Amino acid sequence: MWGIRYTVRDLDGRVLREFDLLDGKSSVWNWARDYIWAGSRLLAIEDASGRQHIHPDHLGSTRLVTDASGNRVSYHEFDPLGMEITPPYQDDVRMKFTGHERDSLADQNTFYDVDYMHARDYSHYFGRFLSLDPAPADPSNPQSWHPYAYVLNNPTLFVDPTGMSIDLSLLTSSELGALMQGLEDFTGNKYGVDERGMLILLSANADASETATNFLDELIASDRVYAVESRDRFFKFRGARDKLETAECSNIILDFSDQAFSKKVDMRTFNIGSSLVHELAHTAMGLEDPPDSTPTALGPVVNFVNTIRRERGFPERARYFARNITRKSDIQNRIVRSKLKFRMPGGRIRNVTLVNFR
Ligand SMILES: [Zn+2]
Repeated sequence: MWGIRYTVRDLDGRVLREFDLLDGKSSVWNWARDYIWAGSRLLAIEDASGRQHIHPDHLGSTRLVTDASGNRVSYHEFDPLGMEITPPYQDDVRMKFTGHERDSLADQNTFYDVDYMHARDYSHYFGRFLSLDPAPADPSNPQSWHPYAYVLNNPTLFVDPTGMSIDLSLLTSSELGALMQGLEDFTGNKYGVDERGMLILLSANADASETATNFLDELIASDRVYAVESRDRFFKFRGARDKLETAECSNIILDFSDQAFSKKVDMRTFNIGSSLVHELAHTAMGLEDPPDSTPTALGPVVNFVNTIRRERGFPERARYFARNITRKSDIQNRIVRSKLKFRMPGGRIRNVTLVNFR
């Protein structure tokens, strides 16, 4: 709870220490917290409950907060103008978008809250500064004539300078290897990652699926960041295996222990690469799977992924059962078998047994 807050800042205006006057009248300043910086990068916050480590992205936005033992406290994603996409009230860290102080932690993502950017207050709700730019405009750059505009109205240049936005940097190297192989088998193209762990197209092949190529090209070039995590790592962070179903999270979570286990069907049709495309279709297009009560319906996502299978000449998925793969009661079992139905190119239906190793 905040009463009156006093801050001690360095010569560049960065907060070094905070004191509270909880009743607003007391003359006793209570130490609230210290901020540890490396230049303009916030590294850690220390208060009475201990130390929290801040993991900023290349813009300085706080993306991940971990506690002293390395457990995840919160994870943040922001839209290009600074509205938080992930749930905004996960922690009490004030340094949010580009590492600037969010003024009211109670009113984030509304027009009541602003980011204090030293010279001016910035509204992440409007994507505009609230006062005139104190620096003169550059006559040769019309975007700079607008005195309230944020970063010359081109926030994505700064959010996403290389235009690559499927973030695979949270995966281990063996998960990454499996995913790149799976994507190549499924789509027909060779994909890789750049030095920041972002997905890139390495080579487009003639026999690749056009639908998959266009879809992934578009997401790679989009302003939005799609962060991919492994299910095991996600559970480790959350500390409980059964929280997946209830967690609010815009990340793509893949189960790397899934393995299609049948010689009856082309193994390229259902692998970790097709799982990524399936989950990306949910997130990027906002599409839902059909409810389990209508087991014969495929739903728009499976239909979309089937289009790619058709272009590749692979068996298509003939049934969709979400329950078959993520049943809660399965989680304790070491080996889980699920039956998936695929329609072969000739029209015959084949059952495929999917085995999850745990
Ligand atoms: Zn789905």
